[in-house]
Amino acid sequence: MTDLFPPDAVLEHLFTGATWGEGPVWLPALRRLRWSDIPGNRILEYDEASGATHVLRTDAEYPNGRTLDRQGRVVQCSHGRRAIERESDDGPQTLVDRWARGRFNSPNDVVVARDRTIWFTDPPYGIHESGREGHPGRPEYDGCFVFRFDEASGTVDPVITDMVHPNGLAFSPDESVLYVADTGYLQVPGAPRGIRAYDVVDGARCTGGRDLVEVRPGATDGMRVDAEGRIWSSSADSVQVFSSTGERLAAIPVPEKVSNLCFGGGDGRTLYITASTSLYRIRTATTDAQCAGR
Ligand code: MG
Repeated sequence: MTDLFPPDAVLEHLFTGATWGEGPVWLPALRRLRWSDIPGNRILEYDEASGATHVLRTDAEYPNGRTLDRQGRVVQCSHGRRAIERESDDGPQTLVDRWARGRFNSPNDVVVARDRTIWFTDPPYGIHESGREGHPGRPEYDGCFVFRFDEASGTVDPVITDMVHPNGLAFSPDESVLYVADTGYLQVPGAPRGIRAYDVVDGARCTGGRDLVEVRPGATDGMRVDAEGRIWSSSADSVQVFSSTGERLAAIPVPEKVSNLCFGGGDGRTLYITASTSLYRIRTATTDAQCAGR
């Protein structure tokens, strides 16, 4: 544990008041943690200096996962617009919302590779008939894929098509492996509930998909990979840390169901955790793998 956390690390509770928090991203310039309250249809921000949380936007079209692109701009998933969008001074701008076979289901989580391509998962949670996390709608293609969008060329291609409901995703530090969580079991009896690993070929294709680990209780929703290649996964009762081969190294108990997490803070070593209604954080001894590439 000593290489994962400083000796005095404790879980801090920062905020309660979301309906279901998701999509955390650290904004270095503002020193704020931005995240989604999906059923609340709003975006929240925690300010590190003041310790206060404010509502950044309401009627936000049910945002979910987000990340920073290589220029530090926020890229986020929109259930409501069934799109990947990027924040700008004029508000969110849709980057892509469809591919050859139709509109996306409801993009859930997103990462940006070093070559600036945008990789995202597309399960159906945001078009469910309940309308809890988006607008009820119908899928326009058969399946739930992981896509790669190349903004420079405008091309969008499926890179993983053999998962049920792909959810959180993260690259290994050298981007040779893509980890993707499947939460299919939530709606499809007998479907997978674990993290799969895929080899990334030529920065554009995924091959050799294999089951890496099933995280219990619950399952992996969001996850991140640290600079040493370890996987930091959400679960129903904790954040759990795994080696790149799936060996469990540590667990941080969290009082609420964990949805997602990200590294942040001034030195990038604070782990922010969205968990049901609340936001937590804990100091660690590492950073996000992508810090090295920025
Ligand atoms: Mg998710």
